[in-house]
Amino acid sequence: MNAELEYLPVPGAELDRIRCNGHDDFGNAVVSLIAGGGEPLRCCLTIAPAGDQIALVSHRPMTAGGPYAEIGPVFVHTSECPVPAPDVFPMDFRDRRAVLRPYDASGQMLDGVVAEPGTSETELKRLFEDPAVDTVQVRNVVAGCWNFTVRRHG
Ligand SMILES: [Zn+2]
Repeated sequence: MNAELEYLPVPGAELDRIRCNGHDDFGNAVVSLIAGGGEPLRCCLTIAPAGDQIALVSHRPMTAGGPYAEIGPVFVHTSECPVPAPDVFPMDFRDRRAVLRPYDASGQMLDGVVAEPGTSETELKRLFEDPAVDTVQVRNVVAGCWNFTVRRHG
């Protein structure tokens, strides 16, 4: 089975709320920063060039809830930016090492892998060959911060 995959950033409705309210869904104020360059942005799934206006806010990537539904820090643009194409692996994340952490439909964590640069897309396809895998979270290797969520299309 060659699953068609979808790559999900912070949802647009949540970004609108954060930008409009001036705080995230967990009460942290949006503090505008100038990107130093290299920050992974979870709004448009790109790596920030130096000089972009960004903010560090909290996000809970898992919608199912449960004990594994972690809340963590993410960089986002402080104003509207392009919505990434849902069916294309985000180009800027291809050559980064990543932790790929799979979950089943009830939100329980399954066995993950560390993907070397350039291998995340292939490793994701392999993980989704297991029908128990419902979503996979792509995360930073050292800090463990969530980058984006992957699921089967439709
Ligand atoms: Zn953005």
